Amino acid sequence: MSRVYNFSAGPAVLPVEVLQEAADEMLDYKGTGMSVMEMSHRSKAYQTIIDEAEADLRKLVGIPDNYKVLFLQGGASMQFAMVPMNFMKNRKAGYILTGQWAKKAFAEAKIYGEAVELASSADKTFSYIPDCSDLPITDDMDYVYICENNTIYGTKFWQLPDTKGKDLIADMSSCFLSEPIDVTKYAMIFAGAQKNVGPAGVTICIIREDLITDDVLPFTPTMLKYKIHADNGSMYNTPPAYGIYICGKVFKWLLKTGGLEAREKINRNKAKILYDYLDSSDFFKGTVEPSSRSLMNVPFIIGDDALEAKFIKEAKEAGFENLKGHRTVGGMRASIYNAMPTDGVKALVEFMKKFEAENK
Ligand SMILES: *Cc1c(COP(=O)(O)O)cnc(C)c1O
Repeated sequence: MSRVYNFSAGPAVLPVEVLQEAADEMLDYKGTGMSVMEMSHRSKAYQTIIDEAEADLRKLVGIPDNYKVLFLQGGASMQFAMVPMNFMKNRKAGYILTGQWAKKAFAEAKIYGEAVELASSADKTFSYIPDCSDLPITDDMDYVYICENNTIYGTKFWQLPDTKGKDLIADMSSCFLSEPIDVTKYAMIFAGAQKNVGPAGVTICIIREDLITDDVLPFTPTMLKYKIHADNGSMYNTPPAYGIYICGKVFKWLLKTGGLEAREKINRNKAKILYDYLDSSDFFKGTVEPSSRSLMNVPFIIGDDALEAKFIKEAKEAGFENLKGHRTVGGMRASIYNAMPTDGVKALVEFMKKFEAENK
């Protein structure tokens, strides 16, 4: 068996221990004589899996009792519609535009009401997080929306916006569980699992209980109401059962390895290795303003299309996969989620040094 260093932005690298455990349990999950994939979601064995996953996530993050945890489907993109359908009671909300995913959520919200651009970093191709200390938030807005870590551009909110008392909703798809989270600062957090948590097909939503009501926009389909999922323990219909099982294993892996504070330390150290090299090199260059840099997604350029193509090709041959930047921005991007070992980043930097020496 040989494993590459996989720098994909998502679906992305998972802990080897988790994959190994899943492999060991593939044909016979704990004496049930079947795979979790073949199991009724109404069975006792599966109820234990989903209950443990939720309990472990609550413990890991420290989710207060007045927040519900939901395991949904439809990807993070489905939340772009579910959020306004469920929460735009005044049909007005504020959006901070820090990249493609925020823009998509903004465009979706416009279908249902008045979505207001509160701030944007489009002027410098989303290479920074705009000042959010005094936003034009009005009283009639139902919520303020951010994309906390911008997967494509490699920026992260290190300070949350001043929402002037309004509920904050955050798309945390690409930074969820990379560091401790103070859930009380948010009305809702959501994350597609395939970046930092598990396989594609699961979206985790953490929602303050008082927001989950039947008072939703009138045309909201049953499947898109948070309340129906909350009332049914994420089992109104068949949940993404196998994906939740893998997420549960990742939660246990994070708990076993010291929790989110320890994880943040590892992630900071890991990202620093790459950023320090980018800052010292006059060949490779990071594209993000230092104060807005993500710990999870690190975009960089050489500034020469042919050399960048050569770098990506030679990196692949050397076992460093998926370093090509997003199709809309070009260049390179190394996604270094929780499951990317520090050794992987060290090896990448050594490879970059060698490439620099050979091609400068
Ligand atoms: C990947 C991503 C999405 C889209 O996720 P899907 O599960 O493909 O819908 C949304 N937001 C962020 C921040 C992402 O990284």
